[in-house]
Amino acid sequence: MGLTMAKMAVVAHGGAGPGPERQKNLQKAVDVASKLLQSGASAIEAAVEACVILEDDPVFNAGTGGVFRIDGSVLLDASIHTSDGRLGFVIAMSDTPNPIRVAADLLSENINGLTGDGARLWADERGHLRKQVEGRPPAEGDGDTVGVIVRDSTGFMACATSTGGCSYRPPGRVGDVPLPGSGFWVNERTAVAATGEGEDITRALLSYRVGEMADRDSCQSLKDAMKIGLEKLIPKEASVGLIAMGIDGPGEGLSNTEMPWASWIED
Ligand code: ASP
Repeated sequence: MGLTMAKMAVVAHGGAGPGPERQKNLQKAVDVASKLLQSGASAIEAAVEACVILEDDPVFNAGTGGVFRIDGSVLLDASIHTSDGRLGFVIAMSDTPNPIRVAADLLSENINGLTGDGARLWADERGHLRKQVEGRPPAEGDGDTVGVIVRDSTGFMACATSTGGCSYRPPGRVGDVPLPGSGFWVNERTAVAATGEGEDITRALLSYRVGEMADRDSCQSLKDAMKIGLEKLIPKEASVGLIAMGIDGPGEGLSNTEMPWASWIED
């Protein structure tokens, strides 16, 4: 955990694909995170609560609005990673409107990740709400997955992501969102989250490699690292977007398609 003072900051995305119509919904989550930070909440708390706002909003493909798998089931993935190296992810969870809360509970465990029925049983033991998630039919293309990165005044960063998974995928499919280095990566200096075609993101180990590029060359801005990542590591036909944050400055977003994103930084 950093001991130096940092400007508090938030950046969030509402998925690769959707246009400006999601901006208002996304801004709500950024506002919640920034208010929490200003009232003394940790980066973890602010990232989780902002993610919950997005999971509870049915327009996003996460939590309540998770898209059906090809068998009609709603199975949710979520992850959280912190700049002190803690990790929590859940894969293909059923009956869990807020999988990010279960992932966040894993931060204090020796287990990094849980999947399927085992994840749900573990959540039951810890009192996480078990409730059928309504979900919605898949949309053409990808999109609407959510991601939030928060930095608190100590420079500590947390990245939370959540999804129902890409459209038209089978029930056992694992996308990038719960895979470290693929859909998310955080170290002491940089935090990155990805959205879009999960298979391409995973094959590229995109979040880790973009984070490395941003770290390795201090002259390279986050935006440059994201641009190189999208251009060099992702096939042209795949819709992919990124958000990223460093130890100072605002969070940034970039995508090769439409992607609503919003950020806030302390004055
Ligand atoms: N990356 C997510 C997945 O593949 C989907 C998305 O971001 O829209 O599950």
